[in-house]
Amino acid sequence: MTPEFSIEFFPPQTAEGVTRLRAEREKLAALQPEFFSVTYGAGGSTRARTLAIVREIAAEGVCAAPHLSCIGSTRASIREMLSEFATAGVSRIVALRGDLPSGMADPGELRYANELVEFIRAETGDRFQLLVAAYPEWHPQARSPEADLQHFAHKARAGANAAITQYFYNADAYFYFVDKARAQGVEIPIIPGVMPIAGFSRLARFSDACGADIPRWMRKTFESYGDDAASIRAFGLDVVTALCERLLSGGAPGLHFYSMNQSTLVTEIWQRLGRKG
Ligand code: FAD
Repeated sequence: MTPEFSIEFFPPQTAEGVTRLRAEREKLAALQPEFFSVTYGAGGSTRARTLAIVREIAAEGVCAAPHLSCIGSTRASIREMLSEFATAGVSRIVALRGDLPSGMADPGELRYANELVEFIRAETGDRFQLLVAAYPEWHPQARSPEADLQHFAHKARAGANAAITQYFYNADAYFYFVDKARAQGVEIPIIPGVMPIAGFSRLARFSDACGADIPRWMRKTFESYGDDAASIRAFGLDVVTALCERLLSGGAPGLHFYSMNQSTLVTEIWQRLGRKG
């Protein structure tokens, strides 16, 4: 099976950001990914912006997969969003729970992603391909690794077609997670999420919050470069390309790049992997 490659964006907050993203997207479209995905703010906070970017991508002739999170939402608002996605010609959705934004207390009518997957299937049958999130280093709020795995298996059985992982830099965590999921009878493709490294301090903060581990040998090497952006970039590219190679040669069904709305690192990793474009 040929590995599937996909690329994720977030909806910019300003008109300049939207224009910049258009230019980055054009460069990335040349790599011919399977789809572009667009994140979605919890409680529908980016609803209009996500939809606008999805419509633009579809008009550019690339398959657009919006993310959809259920926390803080009602069934009626999710139903409305599904109808908007269908009208925009969407065929894939990344279905998530999301996280409650600070200051928002009402968790909404669907508490976990498995309930969202069940709801979408009940409302729209097989109209959409559904992708869900997976956490090889475990979700930060999980009671235990075992409980998280059970919840993941439950979510897959609710009707997911595939999963995309949180990013990680330790390939063994991914392979271990896939083995554990298979032992639970979960057969859907589990696509590694890949975060190219543009700078170290922001990545370190972000990784702490989302529960992704930066191995000590990587952390120490980045720290040793101080403000030397060129060395950080070069080391980051080497590490992430080697990770991708190991994942693909170990049987990963594809790669999903967290682009952070930038084309250069994804393009360079792609070319180093010997892909087209
Ligand atoms: P769930 O699968 O519902 O799991 C959340 C937690 O609840 C886990 O700890 C799980 O073990 C536990 N759990 C699950 N089911 C149950 C149950 N029945 N009983 C008790 N506990 C349970 N966030 C956004 O806001 N917008 C985005 O666009 C977005 N895109 C993402 C894309 C990917 C590929 C990934 C990996 C994450 C993304 N996120 C996004 C972040 C995600 O929303 C958060 O990680 C969120 O905290 C969990 O969402 P989930 O869908 O994995 O939740």
